[in-house]
Amino acid sequence: MKPVVKKATPAAIAVLRQATAISPNRVKASDGLLPSAAHISQSPNSDHNTGFAVDLTHDSARGIDCHEIYDKLKEDKRVKYLIFKGLIWMPGKGDKSYTGSNPHNKHLHISIKDNCGDDTSPWFPWLGKPKTINKVKAAVKPLPKKKEPASPKE
Ligand SMILES: [Zn+2]
Repeated sequence: MKPVVKKATPAAIAVLRQATAISPNRVKASDGLLPSAAHISQSPNSDHNTGFAVDLTHDSARGIDCHEIYDKLKEDKRVKYLIFKGLIWMPGKGDKSYTGSNPHNKHLHISIKDNCGDDTSPWFPWLGKPKTINKVKAAVKPLPKKKEPASPKE
């Protein structure tokens, strides 16, 4: 069995935080970082044990479409493998049917490579930046200074 850590890697945590920043009202019911006791006994060698895996809830109605994310993350060098809707993808091996007990219909599982745990660069760059960042940038430009007209009484 893989030893179970107390905290997930920054890269795994970043997946959920960045998805929430892009879509604050997204459904999180199937989100997951660290394994439950049941998960540990069922999948003793899961990457969730080491904090190098994350489950992201599929919520296409609110912009977190795991079909799209599954395809796009095939380009991300941090990905060790992906599982969604009965398929598993690994670099160099392509899509294969996933035969584990959970077909992953409600969430996308992302396993992260051992040397990428600290890499928190954007996971969803094609979805754009979160709205709060755009607001800060818009407020930076100062208004041009106007000369005060001389008062007629002086
Ligand atoms: Zn998982």
